[in-house]
Amino acid sequence: MCEKATNVEAIFNENVFTMGKMKERLPKKVYAEVKNVIEHGGELSPATADVVAKAMKDWAVEMGATHYTHWFQPLTGITAEKHDSFVTNPDAEGHMLMEFSGKELIKGEPDASSFPSGGLRATFEARGYTAWDCTSPAFIKKDATGAILCIPTAFCSYKGEALDKKTPLLRSLEALSEQALRIVRLFGNTKATRVTASVGPEQEYFLVDRELYLQRKDLIYAGRTLFGAPAPKGQEMDDHYFGVIKERIGSYMKDLNEELWKLGISAKTQHNEVAPAQHELAPIFNTANIAVDHNQLVMETMKKVAKRHGLACLLHEKPFAGVNGSGKHDNWSICTDDGINMLDPGDTPNQNIQFLLVLACIIKAVDIHADLLRQSASNVGNDHRLGANEAPPAIISMFLGEQLEDVVKQLIETGEAASCKEGERLYTGVSTLPDLQKDATDRNRTSPFAFTGNKFEFRMVGSSDSIASPNTTLNAIVAEAFCEAADLLEKADDFDVAVHDLIKEYLTEHQRIIFNGNGYAEEWVAEAERRGLPNIKSMVDSVKSLTTEKSVKLFEKFHIFTKAELESRAEILYETYAKAINIEALTMIDMAGKQLIPSVISYTTKLATSISAVRDACPEADVSAQTELLIETSSLLAESKKALEALKAATAKAAAMEEGENQAKAYHEQVMPAMSALRAPLDKLEMMVDKELWPIPSYGDLTFEV
Ligand code: ADP
Ligand code: MG
Repeated sequence: MCEKATNVEAIFNENVFTMGKMKERLPKKVYAEVKNVIEHGGELSPATADVVAKAMKDWAVEMGATHYTHWFQPLTGITAEKHDSFVTNPDAEGHMLMEFSGKELIKGEPDASSFPSGGLRATFEARGYTAWDCTSPAFIKKDATGAILCIPTAFCSYKGEALDKKTPLLRSLEALSEQALRIVRLFGNTKATRVTASVGPEQEYFLVDRELYLQRKDLIYAGRTLFGAPAPKGQEMDDHYFGVIKERIGSYMKDLNEELWKLGISAKTQHNEVAPAQHELAPIFNTANIAVDHNQLVMETMKKVAKRHGLACLLHEKPFAGVNGSGKHDNWSICTDDGINMLDPGDTPNQNIQFLLVLACIIKAVDIHADLLRQSASNVGNDHRLGANEAPPAIISMFLGEQLEDVVKQLIETGEAASCKEGERLYTGVSTLPDLQKDATDRNRTSPFAFTGNKFEFRMVGSSDSIASPNTTLNAIVAEAFCEAADLLEKADDFDVAVHDLIKEYLTEHQRIIFNGNGYAEEWVAEAERRGLPNIKSMVDSVKSLTTEKSVKLFEKFHIFTKAELESRAEILYETYAKAINIEALTMIDMAGKQLIPSVISYTTKLATSISAVRDACPEADVSAQTELLIETSSLLAESKKALEALKAATAKAAAMEEGENQAKAYHEQVMPAMSALRAPLDKLEMMVDKELWPIPSYGDLTFEV
């Protein structure tokens, strides 16, 4: 049976207060003022804000909304909301009017003392402020709980320190715009007034049956399995990747798409991913700020719709050991408001040189700040991917593709790029540059940072993480490189010669970051070390890169973070790590102690009873199979019990430590290994104990029976 087709054009943006709706509902002058602030920054006058707020409220009420919320992104990595209704005091006759003022639209004061602030907000000034970010449109969240008008906001302390992920992102976008404009001006562009980063995140996720999910405490509390023997079949047949989408999953995707389209999220691509039960969704790219907000909504909607379909959506980076984990490829480019993608090689010699300068700047930025980029993609779950058994590696390198790498090589060697592997020559006046063909870039799946024709794909980001930090970092480091280049070039007597020399200099100095080979190979680790590239193996090890002198200088220069803000973030990251591993350890202790070990005891008792019963009934019978099983299971049982006690001790010791780097290290270096030591014998036992007695669904049940 096929349901009636959805009218996508009709539902797209249904729940968003778009520019179009503002145009319809606002007086011309007010609309013009709002548009100007959205496009060029600045503040709305109080009178205008009142008019906008009223129009927004009227629309929201027509849509069924009774409440509004300042929707923000605290450092928990997810979003937060506190609902206020439009209800006001009734008049003497008892009539009440729904109201929403400009002041309420622009600024909120949630009592936000329970959000992580890393010491930035002393308890006596616990108040946090939310401020409307008009560059991301207001929208309505509609579900069984009702309809809520959500106003995207930035979240700051009383003193204006950023307490969220959006504030630094917006600041980094400002910095990037300002510095990138200097670059395009150098090449004669007088029209562009703003440059922005465009981002398209590909979101990977797993879907499992909700009934089975609810039988596993590890999935409920930790979002990943903490025990589990591999299923007989994994991903080795490559039959899931791009495979036919099962009807149950397809029906989920259909609903998910519709929900997203209503929110103005242009869900575009969907497919099965490599691991069983793993899938991907990619939207069409958007400006970085909106892309970040949308990605939060995508993650939230994925979970919500899953429930409705009797499914559970797992966004964890590594829900299952032994099969691929999930990431989020962050596709990133820089575009001017007159429509030029600065990462597009372009058709004219002038554009080509500009492209090469931009490329050289990015190569320099990524090389100098490889540690920061690595940090920006770190989270607790991603430790199971980066530098662990799977891709991408923890070492930052850049993939340019054969053609572009060849051009870079020629520029370094001779200062010219006279020949090209494909395509024709272009005479530029400064040097001969080949026609760079977009489609000539080959695919490399192992690089953490790959050029893909007109954008970079940052592949390290974890599937559950906000994409705010990676993009803030990218914007910041590239703004710095643009700034340094512009400082030199604006003063140059002979621009053509200067730009030519600068490109050569940057490429020569930073070529070590370029690597087109296999990033998974053992040899690369040794080669990267020879090149002096950082190999930061874990989240805990990555945190200190935030507060180095180099990092503070970068972020303070462009007013993205103050030193205090960076220090507070580092502190929060250590705390987050410790808390997350503590939850995982406690969950393992709970499951092992109350579920798994008791079921092994039942099984050994069953074996022992069987041995005596068989012997009693028939003394000549061979009971060697039962006896061997009993010996083996009992020995693994003893090992499990010992490991359980060791894990309890390690966890208690780490939990008693003072919060901070040392505590995080204790969780990483003591508790994590103790967790593995407990898992190992219990995973073996899962393969021996009667399936009827094993209290939790297996990997096979979870990933193949969806
Ligand atoms: P693949 O899996 O081949 O890498 P997908 O089509 O799954 O590609 O995803 C590519 C993502 O990159 C999409 O979200 C797409 O909108 C985005 N993208 C395309 N062009 C740009 C660009 N110029 N800037 C940023 N993102 C882009
Ligand atoms: Mg893809």
